[in-house]
Amino acid sequence: MKLYTMAEIGRVIVAVSVDGGRKAFDTEALGFSFGDMNDLILQAEENPSLLQRLKDAASGAKDGEIDVANSMLLSPIVYPMQDLICLGINYDEHAKGAGSFSGESFGGERPYTIYFSKRVNMAVGPGEMIPSHKELVDSLDYECELGVIIGRDAYKVKAEDFADYVFGYTIVNDVTARNLQTRHKQWYFGKSLDGFTPMGPCIVTPDEIGDPADLKISSYVNGELRQNSNTKYMIQTVGGAIEELSAGMTLKAGSIIAMGTPAGVGMGFKPPKFMKSGDTVCCSIEKIGDLENKVE
Ligand code: MG
Repeated sequence: MKLYTMAEIGRVIVAVSVDGGRKAFDTEALGFSFGDMNDLILQAEENPSLLQRLKDAASGAKDGEIDVANSMLLSPIVYPMQDLICLGINYDEHAKGAGSFSGESFGGERPYTIYFSKRVNMAVGPGEMIPSHKELVDSLDYECELGVIIGRDAYKVKAEDFADYVFGYTIVNDVTARNLQTRHKQWYFGKSLDGFTPMGPCIVTPDEIGDPADLKISSYVNGELRQNSNTKYMIQTVGGAIEELSAGMTLKAGSIIAMGTPAGVGMGFKPPKFMKSGDTVCCSIEKIGDLENKVE
């Protein structure tokens, strides 16, 4: 099942699709009531049969289909409840490219996973613009990542039980200002500028994803293939990250974890290939879809 957030005149629609994503149904027309996707996630946490009932209702619906391709999609979660939790340098090859760009910021031994956070005042939806912040940023970069949405409060979860806590998966473009990221040492500011988190195009439920460590992941800038990898090359797994983090901090329902990016980001090229105004960046993950945005 795929879950979308759409804008209609005066109203935000949470829509559900069971046919691979071309057609969807307004959850309100199916007899459900959600304020937004966060509300749906919290209702599903309270009521574990909710997702199955949504799926059954969409499967049995006869009319009122929404054509997804011709809808105004927003990010599935427009206002994340908390800062995103991100993994840094979670693919081997990416570590080499990042280290060669700035050894001070990205070099050295890393026996443990790097976690950092990213402020998202408002996530950018498919087709929306990424602001270039020209007065601050001279090195705007893209990072295509698997996004994991937590479905119920997770505390002291074992890696093998992670699937019980995942609501679904999406694509996150962890847009980064490399100059700010390296200048301020802490990565927070350089990754948290307004508009730096395109996310979408939908949330896909775990039953459709299967193994999250077996998905092709790629990105394109102006049609040129830049990143081309597979989530099987992630160093820390989804289950491993949930076990490690939840050992000491509750991952609340609605939390979003961005699992790090493979090689092929702009800073990894010689000379670097940063994004500029007018560029189009497209992030793709198998079974989830494409997330395309233009730089303002
Ligand atoms: Mg990242």
